[in-house]
Amino acid sequence: MTNSTDTKLYTDDLTEAQITAIELQLRPQKTSASGFLNQSERLKDVIEADARTLNDLNITHKQVSDRLESLIGQALRNATLGRRTDGIPPYKTLKDGILIDKIFKVSGGSWMGYQNCPLPNNQGNCPEQGSYDFKILNETSVEEIQFPQLMSHLIRDHQFFEGHTQYRLDPTDAVRILGLKTGIDYTPLKESEECWFEGSYTNSLDNKIGRDIIYAERYVYLGLGVKFYFQGNKGVTVSREPVRFTEPLSVHGVKLDLCQGKIPAGKLMFKKEKREYISGDKSQFNGSRAAETTKQNSFEGKE
Ligand SMILES: [Zn+2]
Repeated sequence: MTNSTDTKLYTDDLTEAQITAIELQLRPQKTSASGFLNQSERLKDVIEADARTLNDLNITHKQVSDRLESLIGQALRNATLGRRTDGIPPYKTLKDGILIDKIFKVSGGSWMGYQNCPLPNNQGNCPEQGSYDFKILNETSVEEIQFPQLMSHLIRDHQFFEGHTQYRLDPTDAVRILGLKTGIDYTPLKESEECWFEGSYTNSLDNKIGRDIIYAERYVYLGLGVKFYFQGNKGVTVSREPVRFTEPLSVHGVKLDLCQGKIPAGKLMFKKEKREYISGDKSQFNGSRAAETTKQNSFEGKE
């Protein structure tokens, strides 16, 4: 059967023998317990049928994938920012659900271990993986979709919504519940932020954690009896008491990613790195951009 849509499909370039070999891995009890295909369906049939469905709805694979990625990305960003102000761990905020774009309640949970993409690409094994399951509830229509973290990738790069298994995302449901419109660009907007992120911790000032950084004697005084020693992209706070700063802190213009401004007694390690996050997508004018804190205390180092 030939592909009746304009979209180039994952299976178009594969031989019958290659498809058969891939299908063996997609059956239940192979790479995943529930499988990516049921016992009898064919990969090419599933991919082509879903492509025709999207074609009839005038929606592209990219639109579905972009919107999933954007909503999940915004939820993760909100959960990360929430920890800074309300102290709630991101996994817990995500478990309870976060409202994005006023109507989409995004929730998710991770399970032990990672699921690898089971579909090889032309370089061999596909490197994509995921460890979360997500749910997006449209609070207006009170309908929801559920899917594994890998879904956005499966749709974007393999045009695959999974077969008729537990984890399939029905494309008609996805388009309706996500409210996708023909011709709208949902490309996620990516930004990055450099921060000092928290690492290991010890309540003992005698513990060897961070000792080399402290010996180097390069530090800033953050106030409230707390010194921040740093060397390259590593830092460590030293405090005799647990303290709480009411204003955000930064060192050399780089923000400290603290939970409610708290620094514990003892030594807390930090690593300076730039992390990418999704702030919205091109379909949103003002978006549901996570509010960023602008006011902060900044310290320059003592050399
Ligand atoms: Zn893949």
